[in-house]
Amino acid sequence: IDKIDIMGIPFANVTRKALVEEIMRERLQDGKKTYIVTANPEIVEHASKDTDYRNIICSSDFVIPDGIGVIYASKVLNTPLEERIAGFDLMTELLGMANAKRYKVFLLGAEESVVQLAAENVEKQYKHIDLAGYHHGFIDIEDEALPKQISKFKPDIVFIALGFPKQDQWINKHLHLFDKGIFMGVGGSFDVLAG
Ligand code: UDP
Repeated sequence: IDKIDIMGIPFANVTRKALVEEIMRERLQDGKKTYIVTANPEIVEHASKDTDYRNIICSSDFVIPDGIGVIYASKVLNTPLEERIAGFDLMTELLGMANAKRYKVFLLGAEESVVQLAAENVEKQYKHIDLAGYHHGFIDIEDEALPKQISKFKPDIVFIALGFPKQDQWINKHLHLFDKGIFMGVGGSFDVLAG
């Protein structure tokens, strides 16, 4: 999957379908650890002002253009990206895949009542997902006890909904504690999943 630089961020130039196939084949089946960022214009702007944050984003495996603004920018810069991939849609596809393959999923983020409802809805809608657990997102991102506990479950997919830049900082700090898994920042998606 090639990358196109938009304002200093290397975006994956790929359709959602091809990305999901790649994640499935190379990442989930072979257990390759993978960090996915879905970057909207606010994230691109924040990264342009904050070098530490930009370095974290650039260390990810895939930066996905979430938001039509990024697609417009890519056209104006004469390096058009294939398509917009909404973070929520990608999360939904990954949940579907997890259901088909009985993968182990962990949900981290949002208010306690929200993540609890989101977890209940995931279990209702995706009967074969192995939901390893969930935890609210009002945590100290430096704390290692929680990520260590999550890593013991050996999850295939961890969705992290702390909002940006926290979710990326959390992934950046704690990814080394895991041997495998897809790690994806999903912003406010648990609020949507909770209904
Ligand atoms: N959140 C959290 N911990 C925090 C701050 C926010 O879990 O310390 C949650 C918040 O409850 C909400 C999500 O993160 O569910 C933030 O969503 P938002 O749409 O603001 O994120 P963005 O799309 O801007 O990254």
